Amino acid sequence: MPLSTECRTASGKTITVADALKLNREGRRDFVCIGCGQRVSPHKESKPGKHQQAAHFEHIPSDGGRNRERPLSDTKRG
Ligand SMILES: [Zn+2]
Repeated sequence: MPLSTECRTASGKTITVADALKLNREGRRDFVCIGCGQRVSPHKESKPGKHQQAAHFEHIPSDGGRNRERPLSDTKRG
């Protein structure tokens, strides 16, 4: 699945992840998914390496992340 690199703001404007990161730093949080309309948050490009990801949006869990489940594969640390 391709990473999403565009989202919509509450006013319905389509913006890029670069724009969203800039707005995010200014305190804006009203980003929604173009595909499904759920809240999303912009993520910066990760550090160079095998699993490097470009800047992209991720859905925000509806519980706000309080009950975030850790995937089993996440127990190993580099
Ligand atoms: Zn979505």
